[in-house]
Amino acid sequence: MGKNIKKNTHNKHPSASPKKTEKNAAEQSFLKLHFIMQLPDRKSRGEEAEEKWEFAFEEMIHFDGQEFTLSSPLKVHAYYSWLDESTLSVRLGVNTHVTGSCVRCLEKAELALSDELLYLYTLRGKGSEDEEMIVEVGAFGKTLDIVEQVWESLVLLLPLRLLCKEDCLGLCPSCGANLNETSNSSLRGE
Ligand SMILES: [Zn+2]
Ligand SMILES: [Zn+2]
Repeated sequence: MGKNIKKNTHNKHPSASPKKTEKNAAEQSFLKLHFIMQLPDRKSRGEEAEEKWEFAFEEMIHFDGQEFTLSSPLKVHAYYSWLDESTLSVRLGVNTHVTGSCVRCLEKAELALSDELLYLYTLRGKGSEDEEMIVEVGAFGKTLDIVEQVWESLVLLLPLRLLCKEDCLGLCPSCGANLNETSNSSLRGE
């Protein structure tokens, strides 16, 4: 996943066009949420702490020409520990289901999203050639809000092309019939 690092800079431009703002409505309301981790003592190296969140997020998410809604509660977990006094390692997990339209047949399709990404929150600027996603932090307090990385993780897990099933046959180019329906008479003789 290391190649997919996004810097989320696009939501830091309030002067974006109205259309763009509308498309980012889900992102804007998501980023008003908080995912607060209570940080362990920075000398407690290797000791793992965890936080879990679960809630319904109902706004439609526009992504790469597709529209998704979360059809089950968004479950987020974070397992985190200090690698050293300036680097916090966070395993960030996201579990939910998305529904949208199959890109081939346009019928409703659902997909389970479940994955864990590794983030490193660090005071130092580090190269990003590793597997981990690097997040530079100005200073560490007693808590850390990871909402931007939760949103980023969710977006990274969204399918580039949602399908109702792996072998969806799509629509007939001549008559527009759903080719998954075997009773489609135009399948014969075309
Ligand atoms: Zn389909
Ligand atoms: Zn046809």
